[in-house]
Amino acid sequence: MKFEEIQSYLQRYTEEGKKCFVTSSFQSHSLPLLHMLSRMPFEIPVLFINTGFHFPETLTFRDEVVETFGLKMIDVESLVNRIDQRDQNGHFYFTSDPDRCCYINKTQPLEPFLMAFDVWINGVRADQNANRRNMQTEQEAPHSVTRFHPILDWTARMIHEYAKEHELPRHPLEDQGYLSVGCEPCTRKTDLHDDRSGRWFGMQKTECGLHTDLIKPS
Ligand code: SF4
Repeated sequence: MKFEEIQSYLQRYTEEGKKCFVTSSFQSHSLPLLHMLSRMPFEIPVLFINTGFHFPETLTFRDEVVETFGLKMIDVESLVNRIDQRDQNGHFYFTSDPDRCCYINKTQPLEPFLMAFDVWINGVRADQNANRRNMQTEQEAPHSVTRFHPILDWTARMIHEYAKEHELPRHPLEDQGYLSVGCEPCTRKTDLHDDRSGRWFGMQKTECGLHTDLIKPS
């Protein structure tokens, strides 16, 4: 979807009185969507789901992007204290039960926003994995929220070209081989042929739950 079409969707939501938010993980490939939104005449809050396990470089990069693009960012944190995120052996859930860890730190904290807003904009792309390949531009999420996926049809190449054209900054860990950057305990350097191969390395897990649990099948 091109800039003008994305803007017309957002214009329609605005005219319908719908409240929108966007989520972002502030990776290099997240920036074209944030940059486009920053060029549009809408006040759309950007939610950063702050698990407390991010690389310090991600937090610094996030703050720089927020400042440069003039974004209104909201840090979304878990209600469960870090000390209580351990299993019976005292190990963090991300080592023994990553689905539970993702639920506590990502999916559950988003619930109040799904109840308060009408449209959730996020930058999933069909070329990222099999789950996302089956998504639609608009899909229903819990609490009657519409998920809007404006760059679902974008490819990695289009992301690269947009970033180049607009001279967007790059996440500092990218040059060290991290092409998909999530939480530090669950991210490794990446296979060049599969950006997301460095996430939850060695596990069957490929999604954190935001794009599997908070979506109704199309
Ligand atoms: S990505 Fe890892 S550390 Fe982050 S919430 Fe999920 S399991 Fe926990």
